[in-house]
Amino acid sequence: MTDLLIIGGGAAGLSAAVTAKSLGDSVLVLERMDRVGKKILATGNGRCNLMNSGSYRYPDGFAFAQRVLTHAGPDMQRKFWHSLGLFLREEEAGRVYPATLQASTVLDVLRFPLEKDILTGVDVKDIRRKGEVWEADDGHRVYRARRILMAGGGCAQEKLGSNGSCIRILRKMGYPCSPLRPALTQIETDTKPIKGLEGIRVKATVTALAGGRPVHAESGEVLFTSYGLSGVCVMQCARYVDEQDASISLNFIDALGLDEQGMQKELNMRIARLASAPAERLLTGILPPRVGQAVLNSAKIRAVHLENLSEDMIHRIVRTMADFRVNVRQLKGFESAQVTRGGISTEVFSDCTMESKRDHGLYAAGELLDVDGDCGGFNLMFAFASGILAGKNGRTAPWEVEG
Ligand SMILES: Cc1cc2nc3c(=O)[nH]c(=O)nc-3n(C[C@H](O)[C@H](O)[C@H](O)COP(=O)(O)OP(=O)(O)OC[C@H]3O[C@@H](n4cnc5c(N)ncnc54)[C@H](O)[C@@H]3O)c2cc1C
Repeated sequence: MTDLLIIGGGAAGLSAAVTAKSLGDSVLVLERMDRVGKKILATGNGRCNLMNSGSYRYPDGFAFAQRVLTHAGPDMQRKFWHSLGLFLREEEAGRVYPATLQASTVLDVLRFPLEKDILTGVDVKDIRRKGEVWEADDGHRVYRARRILMAGGGCAQEKLGSNGSCIRILRKMGYPCSPLRPALTQIETDTKPIKGLEGIRVKATVTALAGGRPVHAESGEVLFTSYGLSGVCVMQCARYVDEQDASISLNFIDALGLDEQGMQKELNMRIARLASAPAERLLTGILPPRVGQAVLNSAKIRAVHLENLSEDMIHRIVRTMADFRVNVRQLKGFESAQVTRGGISTEVFSDCTMESKRDHGLYAAGELLDVDGDCGGFNLMFAFASGILAGKNGRTAPWEVEG
């Protein structure tokens, strides 16, 4: 009989499988799609930002993630990848990628050792325990093993495989689950103030507001789209956006290393120098032209020449540059999200082996658990860490001790 049956051939499931195999276990990965690791291929814009060497950023489930990473953090994961022959490359902000900068390399090193241990097109509908044996049932066939790992992921981007079915199975078995919501997703806004800006990227501090009060801020690159706002900092704000009475404020001045007073001084100098120039020239060299025009429109500046700008108008322009407001319509849903917020409660699983505290022989790993991280490699790092721990099951893998 198989030692370890793994439901889901994603980051968590495949890392568990190769780890258990390296310890001599027989493993079988059941994957509902026609091939494993579809989501891995889509990560990091096809480059796979597989971990982060900086401080941990898990807005939900931080304490559990931290404990899991104490047992299988970046150092151990480097050894894991080294044992599979994967060279790594660290880029800015601790983001770690495969040296090839191709997600397919990560998937290849995971799936090649498992060629005979994967069954695709198997959509598991139910699991159950019969004595010391675990069974997984896809409605056609029953698969049996001594241990079973639920690694079916969350609900983000079903087209890549994860559809929340493993979460549903565990819920049916009585495992507590917090509400599932899309996180790391784009924000749909009123399009009037940003009309004509689609495709433009600009550095800004993004603040999510609820009822006009700031709830969270992130700095970075904002991408204007036809429906609203995207970019890493926008996606990281999404979790704090309550769709009722929410708005987003963009501060373009911060990113220039100035404050409002400094900007006001700069604009006054420009006006003195370029008095007869058209008003649109005021922000040339500070913001992309169309963004500059959008700022002037939002500040309701109708002046034709710079010399016609009053003190009050200049103040309005500076304020708008510091607080360019767009109202939120809604968040983009699971079909666009990079990760699921919420999931199966971590309280009922060991942070050392990922085994259930209720059901001996049942394990869970990856995004189906109530842990989610920011952009930067944190989600894959948790999926790999929890997968490795489930595969180890308290043992020491040979690659941990090799030089
Ligand atoms: C576009 C995109 C880009 C991303 N980029 C990054 C990044 O660069 N860095 C980062 O850290 N994170 C990134 N993420 C998040 C990261 O990919 C996920 O958090 C991570 O893959 C979760 O791993 P997992 O193994 O838990 O689930 P998944 O990788 O989703 O794998 C689950 C697998 O289980 C299978 N499955 C599900 N249910 C069943 C069932 N009932 N029976 C059989 N098989 C089943 C699915 O088909 C799937 O193959 C990105 C996500 C997306 C969508």
